[in-house]
Amino acid sequence: MKTFYAAEQKRHDPKFFLSSGGRFPNPEQPERVERLLEGARAAGLDVARPADHGLGPISAIHTPEYLDFLKRIYQRWQHIEGASEEVIPNIHPIARAGSYPASAVGQAGYHMADTSCPISAETWESACWSAWSAVSAADAVMAGDAWAYALCRPPGHHAFRDVAGGFCFFNNSAIAAQRLRRSAERVAIIDVDLHHGNGTQGVFYERNDVLTVSIHADPVRFYPFFWGHADERGEGLGLGYNYNLPLPRRSDDAAYLEALSAALRRVEAFSPDAIVIALGLDAFEKDPFGGLSVTTPGFALIGKAIAKLGRPAVIVQEGGYLCDELGDNLTSFLTGYGAKAV
Ligand SMILES: [Zn+2]
Repeated sequence: MKTFYAAEQKRHDPKFFLSSGGRFPNPEQPERVERLLEGARAAGLDVARPADHGLGPISAIHTPEYLDFLKRIYQRWQHIEGASEEVIPNIHPIARAGSYPASAVGQAGYHMADTSCPISAETWESACWSAWSAVSAADAVMAGDAWAYALCRPPGHHAFRDVAGGFCFFNNSAIAAQRLRRSAERVAIIDVDLHHGNGTQGVFYERNDVLTVSIHADPVRFYPFFWGHADERGEGLGLGYNYNLPLPRRSDDAAYLEALSAALRRVEAFSPDAIVIALGLDAFEKDPFGGLSVTTPGFALIGKAIAKLGRPAVIVQEGGYLCDELGDNLTSFLTGYGAKAV
């Protein structure tokens, strides 16, 4: 089985991170890639470079306004006197239906949900390759591989059609799902990241061809706060096609697996032709975010339970932050899923 990853994805190296008003080093570090590559290799996966797919598959999810913003904002920002080097917003619209701001500062607030996704000179290139890793993994699955792993970094599931947020710029899981729609009538996205996949939910909220399911720490007192609650079920055609399973903080393997089995029943009822697994490893008990208490062997059980669906699958890396077990947790998930460890 294959891992898709390009070295350009490591170039994005954000420095800034605000948490509860405090300034910290950004946890979405390039070193995550090394740990994850190690974890994928230990599970017997070969690493392949994705193709340059151009903007087509990305613009199938993201608006042209947003793509133009993301591509040019770093250069524009450098002309603002006294500005930070990285693009970091400081003012946001309360409603987004009004006019579109012309200024770099206005657009940064419009297109960035929070301060955790600073944009540097390298961000655009890294985000493109991250998305292309997801596209190449989807193509491999459509060409007949039972599954493929996209080592997407920067991650994607907090990115909406035209908003970055939570370390995410392009929604790689959504891009993979849309790509799979070329040959799959119905696609389910199963998001097992610690945090709710709010961007993914937003992208597909009014659609009934892509089921979105997310298990995560209860957002009542956890990022992303405004989304991820159980009463968010979709709208219009999409009503009943979004399923959120918020868990109490520090839920363990047993509680997690119980929620997962409810999620998988919903997925089975949808009968998808293919699935995308938004694989965050930050539900881990020793992840720096400390939201849930899944163990290393717990990830193997999660992988095994999802593999039982028996559907073609694209596994897309989402969160999971620096800790000694990061690579082992990936190996555990992948071997549970069916990879043959070396
Ligand atoms: Zn996360």
